[in-house]
Amino acid sequence: MLYESNVSFEGDNNVFLMAEDNPIDAELFSEMLNKAFDGMYSVICVDRFESIIDALNKGNFQALILDMDLPDRSGVENVHRLRKRFPTLPIVVLTGNEDLNIALDSLQNGAQDYLSKNNVTPEMLARSLHYARERQMIEQKLKCALEESAYKNLQLEAQSKHDPLTGLGNRTFFQDVGERVLLRAQRKNTRAALLYFDLNEFKKINDVLGHMAGDELLRQVSKRLKTVVRNTDFLARVGGDEFVIITDTLNDKEEVYPLVNRIKHLFDEDFTLGSHKVSMTVSIGVAFFPEASNFDLLVKHADCAMYEAKSTGTTSACFFSDTIEQQYARAQKIESLLRYGIEQQEITAHFQPVINIHNEKDIHVEALARWHNSELGFVRPDEFIPIAERSQAISGITKNVTLQSKLLFEQLAKRHNSSYRIAINVSANQLSHKNFCSSLLHWLDDFHLAPQNICIELTERQFVQNFDICKQQFEQIGNAGIQIALDDFGSGFSSVTHLIDLPFDVLKLDRVLIKDIDQNPRNQALVAGIIEMAKRLNMEIVAEGIETEGEKRIATELGCHYLQGYFISKPLPLEETVDFYNKM
Ligand code: C2E
Ligand code: CA
Ligand code: CA
Repeated sequence: MLYESNVSFEGDNNVFLMAEDNPIDAELFSEMLNKAFDGMYSVICVDRFESIIDALNKGNFQALILDMDLPDRSGVENVHRLRKRFPTLPIVVLTGNEDLNIALDSLQNGAQDYLSKNNVTPEMLARSLHYARERQMIEQKLKCALEESAYKNLQLEAQSKHDPLTGLGNRTFFQDVGERVLLRAQRKNTRAALLYFDLNEFKKINDVLGHMAGDELLRQVSKRLKTVVRNTDFLARVGGDEFVIITDTLNDKEEVYPLVNRIKHLFDEDFTLGSHKVSMTVSIGVAFFPEASNFDLLVKHADCAMYEAKSTGTTSACFFSDTIEQQYARAQKIESLLRYGIEQQEITAHFQPVINIHNEKDIHVEALARWHNSELGFVRPDEFIPIAERSQAISGITKNVTLQSKLLFEQLAKRHNSSYRIAINVSANQLSHKNFCSSLLHWLDDFHLAPQNICIELTERQFVQNFDICKQQFEQIGNAGIQIALDDFGSGFSSVTHLIDLPFDVLKLDRVLIKDIDQNPRNQALVAGIIEMAKRLNMEIVAEGIETEGEKRIATELGCHYLQGYFISKPLPLEETVDFYNKM
């Protein structure tokens, strides 16, 4: 017998582990074992609970013979802990206490057998250990069989909680199945992966080809997806064009990549929708359990990784990481503080002068949102505007900026007798709300601003989604006498079709077209062509981002009506804007 409190054992399976703190008992039972098994097995003895864990972590044992009362930890709780941690280990409890309740208790907590020290014989001990092993094996087999059948039931359930359009599991199914996959992974001590993905620019299909075509596309995508999932994985459609796959058979990035690639390849071939051929791509986000410790968090992580994949336009999948988590946490923080900030009118505006090259008396400014928060400090609009757009807080920002514009207007109107125009930026999802125009008109009314003095600036990205509603709102805004500018023209989202479909009053040439234009004849030719076209469509042209004398000269020579940029003035706080015009 080896009696060690600090076991350094890396053995095979021919060893029993005995936990017994009384050296005389330890010696006695070792001898019994030796006799009963004719020296076939050796025994390692430990005298503390922590040493049991240590030994079991290091080696394989035939079984554990356990005295429940050890100096560092005692009672039936010991059996429970060991069973949880080492589910396949046969345990025989050995104690001086003959209380039957304790015996039962230890069996209920996972021991396979129980012997009293007072009347144990070598034969009894050998039989007990033999049975303990047999019983443990049967229990394991039963557990596996139960798990298998539970899994089969899940597959059947998939059929009852399915999405009628595609025949895939629906969101309820995903929730149920997801929780169970995680439980299973926890029991088996494995990881689970969740792939969350959606189709890029799916809405465009609905808008351009109609909902029937959109539905047909989703059916075809689902059909292809079914071919890449194994029957241990669960596939569901959880939203319009959002799909998930959850599995506990893929453990890390390397194991997930092949599935990611199979999904990507499903989109290599175009989809046929009636007489149209359509090409599609997907954005995939992946997160793992137990890194995300519960189902809701796992979904959140995968969703946020997908969002990252979408915003960075990555062609492979995005895996949830600490960096994404930090960005996500900052975005969450911004989102929560922003709501309060809007209520408290922390959002103000700076105004950037836009000069009319023919009439310097004109007062045209662009109102740009500014946010200073006591906790976050100054947050750039490029950072908080997209978050506000997602969380619907954007409408509160437009209202705050409109209010600031009224304050500027009051001050300027007292001193000047010229024509005024304040440009206010408006975002994508605002225009796709049916009542956007009426809210805007309400605010203008409340703040005593005349629609004729307002121009709203839109970027083209905004029309891609919900084109029909956008068009309606567009017409209402125009009919109310508000001007509409197409912002950031040339920045990568421009398409001339919208200039034909929608009657913009103003075209704003993005800084990418203006930058170094005095040294770039090709850009000059391009801008000259755009200006020619815009003039024919009766649009006014603003050159944005003028930073140098040379850029200003060429923009003027080419026929832009208005100039805006740091060379004229940076965006200014309200009081400084008033000063700027007072000095003119
Ligand atoms: P934008 O509408 O294109 O606004 C012009 C941006 O270019 C402003 O940045 C402005 O400071 C900057 N800029 C002006 N002149 C120059 C120049 O000469 N050189 C360079 N490099 N930049 C110049 P800002 O204020 O950081 O705003 C960024 C964007 O945030 C805006 O781009 C606009 O898309 C968005 N934004 C700002 N306020 C609002 C708002 O109230 N609502 C919405 N929806 N979006 C807003
Ligand atoms: Ca703008
Ligand atoms: Ca712009």
